Amino acid sequence: MILTITLNPAIDVRYKIGNFDINGVFRGKPAKTAGGKGLNVSRVLRTLGEEVEASGFLGGNSGDWISDEIANIGIKDSFIKTDVETRSCIAILGNGTQTEILEMGEKISENFVEEFLEFFRNRFDRFETICISGSVPEGVQEDIYKVLCEIAGKKKVILDTSGRLLLKGIEGNPYLVKPNKEELEGLLERELITFREVIEGAKELKNKGCKNVLVSLGKDGAIFIDESEKVYKVSIPKIDVKNSVGSGDSTIAGFAYAINRNKTPEEALKLAMACGMSNAMIDETGKIDLNVVEEFLPKIEVEKL
Ligand code: ADP
Repeated sequence: MILTITLNPAIDVRYKIGNFDINGVFRGKPAKTAGGKGLNVSRVLRTLGEEVEASGFLGGNSGDWISDEIANIGIKDSFIKTDVETRSCIAILGNGTQTEILEMGEKISENFVEEFLEFFRNRFDRFETICISGSVPEGVQEDIYKVLCEIAGKKKVILDTSGRLLLKGIEGNPYLVKPNKEELEGLLERELITFREVIEGAKELKNKGCKNVLVSLGKDGAIFIDESEKVYKVSIPKIDVKNSVGSGDSTIAGFAYAINRNKTPEEALKLAMACGMSNAMIDETGKIDLNVVEEFLPKIEVEKL
């Protein structure tokens, strides 16, 4: 069983409006999913056949809706129930355009943050692998991920967030971080053009305190640096992309599933990529097709440099 943490979940509302433009009036049917990066990870883990317990903050009618959704797919709901409404995020898919409105999430009061930390302290030890993903709502301290990593100690904590939350989180020595290329560039405040530069950048991030670093590179696969600084280059076949939102989360789920079963880095990387690719071929966010994943596995190449 894997524990996932989503401190800032959302109902993801998606409208497909072919002729969307900013000044128009449109009618559309929303497709809703339980979102927030950690819940995307949770859903993909369930599709892979993993048992999942999920925690974070949920509140109001939206929180209840998400609770029902995750119960329906067999995720154990350990969310702290707060007194504020969980946010909604809206994506409008036009012809080749994607417009997103991301609510920030209402302020969480201190007593709920304390309740969550208490839950985590009491519960983390039952898991070998813990996935922590995404942003945090107002009211949650900036070093929360550092605190969680420190509590979890030797557990395999996969931390997927960005900016200051990631930089602070790394101080807690997570097992793995997975920035994409743009996120890594943002952290290091410079452009990374060649593979060599990405490798150097990933090593720099590793030296800040994370044990392993996976840099996902969209259609160009990934670069992985392991605990002993071995470098792996992962190459993937070309695919027809429908919607790559959630591919990073699916990548995390594939990697977490594999390492939780003590698979080799090569196996973990292949499953991670295959899940990311399968997600990119489906409209919905955080969804994979196991047949497609199986089909991709032998076509992914992992090269030790
Ligand atoms: P994020 O969603 O965090 O930005 P990426 O875009 O790097 O992460 O995607 C994660 C993984 O999903 C990639 O390493 C790759 O395996 C797969 N993927 C994403 N976009 C594409 C694409 N355009 N073509 C092929 N695979 C993709």
